[in-house]
Amino acid sequence: MKIGCPKEIKPQEFRVGMTPDAVRDAVAHGHSVLVETGAGVGAGFTDDDYTTAGAQIAPDAETVFAEAGMIVKVKEPQAAERKRLREGQVLFTYLHLAPDPDQTRDLLESGVTAIAYETVTDRSGGLPLLAPMSEVAGRLAPQVGAWTLQKANGGRGVLLGGVPGVLPAKVVVIGGGVVGTHAARVAAGMGADVVVLDRSLNRLRYLDDVFAGVFRNTYASGAATAAAVAEADLVIGAVLIPGAAAPKLVSRAQLATMKPGAAIVDVAIDQGGCFETSRATTHQDPIYEVDGIMHYCVANMPGAVARTSTLALGNATLPFLLALADKGWKAACADDPHLKAGLNTHAGQLTYAAVGEALGLPS
Ligand code: NAD
Repeated sequence: MKIGCPKEIKPQEFRVGMTPDAVRDAVAHGHSVLVETGAGVGAGFTDDDYTTAGAQIAPDAETVFAEAGMIVKVKEPQAAERKRLREGQVLFTYLHLAPDPDQTRDLLESGVTAIAYETVTDRSGGLPLLAPMSEVAGRLAPQVGAWTLQKANGGRGVLLGGVPGVLPAKVVVIGGGVVGTHAARVAAGMGADVVVLDRSLNRLRYLDDVFAGVFRNTYASGAATAAAVAEADLVIGAVLIPGAAAPKLVSRAQLATMKPGAAIVDVAIDQGGCFETSRATTHQDPIYEVDGIMHYCVANMPGAVARTSTLALGNATLPFLLALADKGWKAACADDPHLKAGLNTHAGQLTYAAVGEALGLPS
């Protein structure tokens, strides 16, 4: 099969759908790979890196879309890209169709077979192509939180790890799933005094088993959350209720109980955020202040570390990509119900029930 990897065109997106190592594996499986010139630059991969791995370089996106039987990307196709998709072609990328009727309509009109990273599942009920980005965002959260706490950024001028003779900062992580666990690990590694709050007792048992002595955890009752937030130098929001907007766990009134210059990193902002005062920000202008509390609410945090994110995403997508290319999408999905769970559109039909429900379309 000819696999195509165009350059991402969504503003501020520096990741790329295939790494040179993924190209190498695809070529070893007997496929040819067409990479748009400059596609990997944002993630630190040159055209030479791709040709050395066995890819051909295409001069523009038009050529990639016209010639490839499968398109591998990162972000949902933008309007200009959607015009280039066609029936019989496979699109493998993040789609997030439920809140996006325009994209859904265009994909259905194109007839493309679209497999969404975010709905591919695994045996334990997890989302293996979303998890790497949660790992990245989680590990990044204490780093950006530490930066937000610096005086020049409006923070209270507290160093996460303290120094000999000075106590470390108090970091509160609300939600102990993938993001929260990685955030807590890194914050503890930076020397902070960390507590994780979650509503799942099983999750708290797991955290206690694995991380006793590294960070503490407690049940996320309203009272416990309020008390922890009032004490915190940095609060990291990392809750998720699958398929729903994030619950608002900290009200504006509660900001008045916090220390002036304390920081909030709301990783859950892509689901609306778990602080009443959160609003999505960008890497260009990431922080703002409300009632003396600094907020960092970037909705696409992994984009800040495009190289690490590309490598992490590439590790997770590669086995599925190879299965799709080796067997064709139909046989690959027949063999693997978890990959089949990723199928969102095919030949003008919506094939993912939750998207149909969200948009009021038949599926
Ligand atoms: P996850 O499902 O692994 O973990 C979520 C945790 O929240 C679970 O342990 C759950 O028990 C807990 N939870 C739910 N309701 C709670 C409540 N009321 N109080 C306390 N805990 C509660 O999800 P995840 O992969 O860790 O993702 C967390 C959030 O981060 C999601 O909204 C995800 O979309 C977002 N995210 C954002 C970015 C970004 O760039 N901003 C990147 C990756 C993920």
